[in-house]
Amino acid sequence: SEPRRPGPEEARTHCPYCALQCATRLSGDREAGVTVEPADFPVNRGKLCQKGWTAPELLGVPDRLTSPLVRGSDGRLAPASWETALDTVAGRLRRIRERHGPDAVGVFGGGGLTNEKAYLLGKFARLALGTSQIDYNGRFCMSSAAAAGNDAFGLDRGLPFPVTDLGDAGTVLLAGANVAETMPPLMQHLDRPRLIVVDPRRSATARRAALHLRPAPGTDLALALGLLHIAVTEGLADTGYIERRTRGYEEAVGRAMGWWPERVEAVTGVPASDQRTAVRMLAEHPRTYVLTGRGAEQHSQGTATAAAFINLALALGLPGTTGAGYGCLTGQGNGQGGREHGQKSDQLPGYRSITDPAARAQVAGVWGVRPETLPGPGRTAWELLDALGGDRGIRALLVFASNPVVSAPHSARVADRLAALDLLVVADFVPSDTARTADVVLPVAQWAEEEGTMTSLEGRVLRRRALLTPPPGVRDDLRVLRDLAVRLGEPASRYPTEPRAVFEELRAASRGGRADYSGISYERLDAGEALHWPCPDTAPDHPGTPRLFLDRFAHPDGRARFAAVDHRGPAETTSEEYPVYATTGRVLAHYQSGAQTRRVAELAEAAPEAYVEVHPDTAARCRLTDRGLARVSSARGAMTARVRLDPTLRPDTVFVPFHFARDGRANLFTHPALDPRSGMPEFKVSAVRLDPLAE
Ligand code: SF4
Repeated sequence: SEPRRPGPEEARTHCPYCALQCATRLSGDREAGVTVEPADFPVNRGKLCQKGWTAPELLGVPDRLTSPLVRGSDGRLAPASWETALDTVAGRLRRIRERHGPDAVGVFGGGGLTNEKAYLLGKFARLALGTSQIDYNGRFCMSSAAAAGNDAFGLDRGLPFPVTDLGDAGTVLLAGANVAETMPPLMQHLDRPRLIVVDPRRSATARRAALHLRPAPGTDLALALGLLHIAVTEGLADTGYIERRTRGYEEAVGRAMGWWPERVEAVTGVPASDQRTAVRMLAEHPRTYVLTGRGAEQHSQGTATAAAFINLALALGLPGTTGAGYGCLTGQGNGQGGREHGQKSDQLPGYRSITDPAARAQVAGVWGVRPETLPGPGRTAWELLDALGGDRGIRALLVFASNPVVSAPHSARVADRLAALDLLVVADFVPSDTARTADVVLPVAQWAEEEGTMTSLEGRVLRRRALLTPPPGVRDDLRVLRDLAVRLGEPASRYPTEPRAVFEELRAASRGGRADYSGISYERLDAGEALHWPCPDTAPDHPGTPRLFLDRFAHPDGRARFAAVDHRGPAETTSEEYPVYATTGRVLAHYQSGAQTRRVAELAEAAPEAYVEVHPDTAARCRLTDRGLARVSSARGAMTARVRLDPTLRPDTVFVPFHFARDGRANLFTHPALDPRSGMPEFKVSAVRLDPLAE
């Protein structure tokens, strides 16, 4: 419930960063300064992390973009009027489309966009540009778990239960999720349950675990298969549930039977005794949850790995059971909503397939066009980035709320591909690493200057509210899309610029879809209702669906599906030349590509530069010293990092945060091997070598 109504100089909103979407109350103004405090909300219960507490600093960063920038004939970005910038973009887009067809223009969106922006961006791409080439950075975030969840349950919602349910759990397995650092307020709900943490690192979360399993990078899938093997052979599987509520058990178990504990130990390094302990801990308490994060998902077998953990949960009878379940801890602020409204290459609003004739007909009806005019599926994020340049097909790219120069794998190749474009347009509120390479930069509003909705990791739709008006010279993304669409020949009426009006259209477009928002309104949200999708308007005041699957799963027969998956191993293994595994991840002080948090003084001070955590034995072998500099190189590229010795690491593995720019980009060495089902790159496993560098 919402406590008191905010005053005129206050806004009750949510943190600009991660998918936990902690509630905040903002007050003040630009002159006096903006302050933040946690608002009453069951998810963050009066707490924020360091990023949330310092978020108001984002509103006054010195290099805030307040004027469009256009690259001149001298090669420099120079301020320009909005009219000039938009005319330039539209004119060049028109020429590229005329010469090379609509698919020569690509769009790259972001999981931080509000639902309204994500929706309108998808519509703009399909109608104003007529392109199939749209995808977004969420492909690099939770796409493997989304694919596995859709396959298993017929529906993907990160957590199909409220976060607060976790507090009553007996045991929680966290596979590849370092929530103590990435979402600290979530730990309040994990204080009581016994934690089993799967992570090659002794992360902040692993340090609080009752049991820490440390598989070698790229072997999580073998471990999950082994845990299923033990559950079955020790008679811990819930046979009644399997019989009643699932299909495909025999085939899945058939694969897992090849993964007996000693073999799993040989492949993963996790002792067989710890594997057995883990399964007994999971099975002995009825209130058990299995949760996956990026560590388990960002692999070239990411979908299979998430599916293997879902198999384990299904065998134990957890999903769709009160007080138990499986979930994926979505990372980006609107990582959940961002994947529902049509900025994915294969998808239309309502989280429906773009190849589904019924979905095409309905959405086309809402948009006032014929279904056959809608493009089909396009490339996934990495494929799209790799197809940039005249020789590869895509000649112009529009980037909204994303910084792929830092966040995409094999980032030197991404930078080369961006440079090969005829036109790169970036809409952002700071000169991100990608914006600095653009031909045109469009300055847009940021979180505390805009209205809209976000959907958190538990599928709850939340209101983002404005405290401030944007600075002069800055426009809202919705207006930018409308202004461009009109210049491209679209009727203005097709692109509302009021967030509420866009949401009303989104409701209609989602009606009957998997993510059905048709029963949700700003009025209901502003009245403090807790509405988790699906919330159809089939009944007045539908209460939403905080807990999914309690009666049936979303497949037509109501049953969940086991997946018959097997372990293949990472795309790249260590060699004489590249003898160490590198795995990448996040740290407390920074968010995603760091474009925002590196500009906040306190956060920059807490984590000022790229670093690599190395076991002391490995450091000695590689002639590295604590606090010295190292070059971390793979077959694809090299980055520079400050060495931090960590005796708790596996000696065969180093850890590098990916938030830093220029030669501190971890993604200079990462591998773009893709998961065939989801398009997820293999961020978590690269074979590297480490060399000392002089200061
Ligand atoms: Fe913001 Fe996430 Fe930190 Fe909460 S946990 S304050 S949503 S960054």
